[in-house]
Amino acid sequence: MSYEYDAENIFAKILRGEIPNKTVMETEHTLAFEDINPQAPTHVLVIPKGPYVNFDHFVSSASDLEIADFFRTAGKVAEQTGVAQSAEGAGFRTISNAGPDGVQEVPHFHLHVLGGRMLGRMLPAPR
Ligand code: AMP
Repeated sequence: MSYEYDAENIFAKILRGEIPNKTVMETEHTLAFEDINPQAPTHVLVIPKGPYVNFDHFVSSASDLEIADFFRTAGKVAEQTGVAQSAEGAGFRTISNAGPDGVQEVPHFHLHVLGGRMLGRMLPAPR
């Protein structure tokens, strides 16, 4: 599978500093920022700084360092925002939409970290 990265997508512009963002966490390889249209009290997007189109592109082409940094950062975002599961309850959901069936709008790999309310079932019941 070959992937064509569009360097003009909105997250590429955020990474270049051309569009502002509300940064939650940043590392050498990863950026986490607030979603502009939050679907839950906590809605953070975690993106790699490298040019990866979607989940499968990222896990097949990124270095082990980038992949480890990405997922560790996502876990820290859950902890830092207070949604990580604890003795008191809480909990959260991560989602990565890919391609047309996944209804991916921005063609730069990202993980949604959602929480802060009861999120309901993962998918609507099939019609
Ligand atoms: P997806 O459908 O998985 O590609 O999700 C793209 C997400 O990016 C949506 O939840 C949008 O609200 C979010 N989004 C789009 N533009 C921006 C932006 N400039 N800053 C933060 N989030 C954005």
